[in-house]
Amino acid sequence: MTPPRSDGDAPVLDMSGVRKEYTVGEQQIVALADATLTIDHDEIVALIGPSGSGKTTLCSIAGGLLTPTDGTVEFAGRDISGLSARELTEFRRTSVGFVFQSVNLVPFLTARENLLVVDELGGRRRGDRAAARRRADELLGELGLGDRAENLPAGLSGGERQRVAIGRALMNQPRLVLFDEPTSALDSTTGDQVVKLIRDELKARETSAIIVTHDQRITHYADRVVRIEDGRVDNEPVSDDTPPEVAGGERA
Ligand code: ADP
Ligand code: MG
Repeated sequence: MTPPRSDGDAPVLDMSGVRKEYTVGEQQIVALADATLTIDHDEIVALIGPSGSGKTTLCSIAGGLLTPTDGTVEFAGRDISGLSARELTEFRRTSVGFVFQSVNLVPFLTARENLLVVDELGGRRRGDRAAARRRADELLGELGLGDRAENLPAGLSGGERQRVAIGRALMNQPRLVLFDEPTSALDSTTGDQVVKLIRDELKARETSAIIVTHDQRITHYADRVVRIEDGRVDNEPVSDDTPPEVAGGERA
């Protein structure tokens, strides 16, 4: 089920003319009017735009959490817009990772168990359990959490919890990780560390990502910045020249 890594030249994600309408009572809300976006292998794209512009909806569709009203979504050359609920579950489990703003760790599981739960949901064979445990500990180590593996989320700081969530998103070796405002709940020093870790972990694995953010640090670390407004993706390149008052000397 995992898309092969040798999928020719197909981009990891290819969304074309994607529209998403929500029906609320009598009202139709157009969350995405026309979203066209391609993410290449090993490419980190920062997605920026005002509140309500459709960023979360776009990520949800890219990750198979929502199906589009119209348009096509191809993942590594495979059309996912028409998959059944069951196929989408399998797709999410094997191909994408999610990191949300509010860290949704399982509160009664330790840091390590929060990573292992991904593997167990994946229904892997028993013999692979030891390998999963090694992988979880390796990830926790890389994320600077080697000595926090046995901690419950309540016994971790905000930054540490977000790092556990990043480890969990990488557990299943996804092709694409979707980050929805991953640093917005963190103070600036912690946010800095988390941004660097995100970039290092993604690049070490040649993993692609969409990172929804208002955070200038992330836009600097991204390979490309894409704007969205009123549900429309603007694929014109965004200038990297950040006004100094916003950059805050971060680019030294
Ligand atoms: P962003 O993440 O950029 O803030 P969203 O994708 O969350 O934007 O929302 C885009 C638009 O769709 C907004 O107008 C929002 O109110 C609306 N919306 C989002 N989710 C739902 C939903 N489940 N039901 C109805 N409207 C929604
Ligand atoms: Mg959002």
